[in-house]
Amino acid sequence: MTMAHKRSKKRGIQHRRRERRFVPSKTTTSGFGFWGGMAGSLLLGAGVYAAWIRDPAIPYAALMVGAGAALFVLALVLGDVGTAPVRIGDAGVALERGTEFTRIPWCDLKRVYVAKGRLIAQAEDGTTLSLPLRAHSLAAAWLLSETVRRVPEVMDVKPSVVDALPKPDPGDGESVVVQALQVVGRHCAASGEPIQFERDARLCPRCAQVYGRNHVPRKCRTCGADLGEAAVAL
Ligand SMILES: [Zn+2]
Repeated sequence: MTMAHKRSKKRGIQHRRRERRFVPSKTTTSGFGFWGGMAGSLLLGAGVYAAWIRDPAIPYAALMVGAGAALFVLALVLGDVGTAPVRIGDAGVALERGTEFTRIPWCDLKRVYVAKGRLIAQAEDGTTLSLPLRAHSLAAAWLLSETVRRVPEVMDVKPSVVDALPKPDPGDGESVVVQALQVVGRHCAASGEPIQFERDARLCPRCAQVYGRNHVPRKCRTCGADLGEAAVAL
């Protein structure tokens, strides 16, 4: 067997880590997201015309451009127009923005709560992911059930919210390979040593805590899950 062969076989192991991918439901696009975005882009267009194309320029044209752009961005941020796909699985919860991922592993979660119709996952370092409960009801249901199973102490959501969401079903979402799980540069939770290569990292299967491969404890320091053989490579 050649080296290249061996290497590709090793890479195959990485692909065991999977997660569920949820796209927001199209039917619940919020009024503000749609009309705000529309009004913003119209205002922006009118402002551009008034400032640079019309001669003489209208004095408040710059204001129109600014207000139009601000409204457009606000609509993207607040409205479901900008709602991103969500991934939930062994590696934690992640929001997709094109090819960019914002990911919070379970072990880094500090609090999961609801505010203004959105489910918010907040990490120790201040990173927050927020999903609209209506457009992402299935993802929200999964995020809550996985939170209860893996890191129950961070759950800060009323049972009535959970009851209003769909019941998680094993067939939900699209099963995809875990991407963009950043382990290089993290510190082994047992030895404190930085992880220098992805191949040296071992993960807790329950909370995704990271250990150096030579320092895997019997039980996870964060969630108490049995490790040893169960601590899997990426
Ligand atoms: Zn753990």
